Amino acid sequence: MDQYKVVGRIGEGAHGLVLRGQRLGTGQEIALKRVLLKKLEDGIPTTVIREIKALQEVDCEYVVQLLDVFPQGLGFVLVFEFMPSGLWEMLRDAENPLTVPQMKAYMIMLLKGVAYLHEHSIMHRDLKPANLLISRDGVLKIADLGLGRMFWAEQNRPYSHQVATRWYRAPELLYGARYYTEAVDLWAVGCILGELLTCSPLFPGETDIEQLAIVLRTLGTPTAETWPGMTELPDFNKITFPETRGVSWDQIFPDCVPEAVDLVKKFLVYNGDRRLKAKQALVHPYFFTLPLPCQLSGMPKPVDGHRHQFKVKEYDIEKPVDELFSDLKGMLTS
Ligand code: ADP
Ligand code: MG
Repeated sequence: MDQYKVVGRIGEGAHGLVLRGQRLGTGQEIALKRVLLKKLEDGIPTTVIREIKALQEVDCEYVVQLLDVFPQGLGFVLVFEFMPSGLWEMLRDAENPLTVPQMKAYMIMLLKGVAYLHEHSIMHRDLKPANLLISRDGVLKIADLGLGRMFWAEQNRPYSHQVATRWYRAPELLYGARYYTEAVDLWAVGCILGELLTCSPLFPGETDIEQLAIVLRTLGTPTAETWPGMTELPDFNKITFPETRGVSWDQIFPDCVPEAVDLVKKFLVYNGDRRLKAKQALVHPYFFTLPLPCQLSGMPKPVDGHRHQFKVKEYDIEKPVDELFSDLKGMLTS
């Protein structure tokens, strides 16, 4: 821990503060995130340690690298490579709108990261633009695996269903599924692609019920055929929605080429088993039709402070760093 110093504040996520730092000696830029241990009944520290170990072993260009971990108070401080911006900010940068080749390149990087995680039995469970960070050289990397948990195909383990941020949450989670698969990430990928294509979130529900209502209204009422097992989901009988045939894909994506619409369509499938896998998506015609995905050299290179042009709220509350992360005070330079 005395290898690092805190140089600023990046933001505040759902799980605590993220601070900006530097590795002493090398000057390497890092981000420090504190995670608190869940309540003891949610998991004994050995499982937490096992999860952190697994995160440390993740080695993929498209997943933010966990460089170091040390215990701190009632939790841990995770040390990550520093990422100057994110897809959330890129989508809000009206002065520099993304081009189609750039969107395709971001999708490829996202899919490669997701394919890697799923190959290594890790489901992310909270994929959304705010958790996709952009490096200085323009590489998109998946971040915030804090909610991720190792999953085992053979074992039926119940998971907490309040996982993904609502707009990107798969319908099985909205119906309270306790047993689900990495297919929840592929639903989120479909929502992210839809958002890239239309420049606005696909299913922006303000409550969990409205979320389900928007999805059903758009995609049509699921049937026993399109979604086997739906009626057995815990919350299925708690609420009924009016029968609807949904909206046509061309209406949802009026200005998009057919390859793009076809790709989204293959992710936004009620039956999780039938959603397109990340690896399969990488060979979809969308990525091989003109205009082709952008090379890394043509990708936006976020400058320092790019993030903060868009996240006004965080900068309104200026507090000295030592107050924000008081028990890390020892790390602050005088
Ligand atoms: P939470 O679980 O609280 O959402 P995140 O890991 O998503 O935590 O971090 C919250 C925010 O902090 C991110 O949306 C991003 O803006 C910023 N952040 C997280 N990790 C990094 C990093 N490695 N480099 C730069 N900023 C980061
Ligand atoms: Mg996050």
